[in-house]
Amino acid sequence: MLICPFCNSRVEKFHKRSHVIPEWMYAECYNENHKLIEISREKQKATKKQKGFYFDFICKTCEKRTQNYDRYASLVLTNRSPNSPESLSVKKERFLGNHRDEGLSFEQWNNLDFEKFQKFVLASILRTHCSGCIKGDIQLNKSHFKQIFSVYENKTALDDELYPIVLYRLKDSDPFKRHVVLPYFKRYAGHHLIEFMGAGYVFNLYVSSHRKPEYVNLFRLKKDGSLTLPLMDFKQMVLFQRTLDLVKTTLGFKI
Ligand SMILES: [Zn+2]
Repeated sequence: MLICPFCNSRVEKFHKRSHVIPEWMYAECYNENHKLIEISREKQKATKKQKGFYFDFICKTCEKRTQNYDRYASLVLTNRSPNSPESLSVKKERFLGNHRDEGLSFEQWNNLDFEKFQKFVLASILRTHCSGCIKGDIQLNKSHFKQIFSVYENKTALDDELYPIVLYRLKDSDPFKRHVVLPYFKRYAGHHLIEFMGAGYVFNLYVSSHRKPEYVNLFRLKKDGSLTLPLMDFKQMVLFQRTLDLVKTTLGFKI
């Protein structure tokens, strides 16, 4: 008997091949031979792959539930079904120019289904954690894992502050739009966060009991369904510098 880490049910078998992050997030990563290149910073090497990362670690019911949130996110984040009701319902406006004199352009989104979108981000992180794939110097501790889970499970009291989500959109011209970075833990300006990237977006989940910085309160996904996304270049995100250096040397990119 196995115990599902999501619902604690005893099951005979887990779902075969649960994804760590959904396959649609890799869509832009495949080359003309349908190959992905996996770059491991730890191992300092690049290898070719046919598919994203799949493991057996949750039950069929929980897998099915997460697919529902993944599907919603794919409809609002990509142009694959621009006429779907989900895609049409989200209002996106782009503002080009300065934002607080910082030379940032940004998008303002309204009418997102907060619950589904939040659960998509949380499920991606919880799945990565349960599959043992979260990278970084530190790991998600038990108490945060339990609390993130309780936010994921809570169907009534929506909460956008306890574990705020910030999204960055990579600029259309950025060649790094074609990369996926699996969730990893990092420290930034004294705060702990889990970051991942795919489909041209960088996702940050702040994991700390401290007061969050002002920009997090400004940009975080709000429970009224609004979201402000800064538009960035991968190379502007200094925290990616080490990965950037490795990608440059491994793949010979000219930046
Ligand atoms: Zn389960």
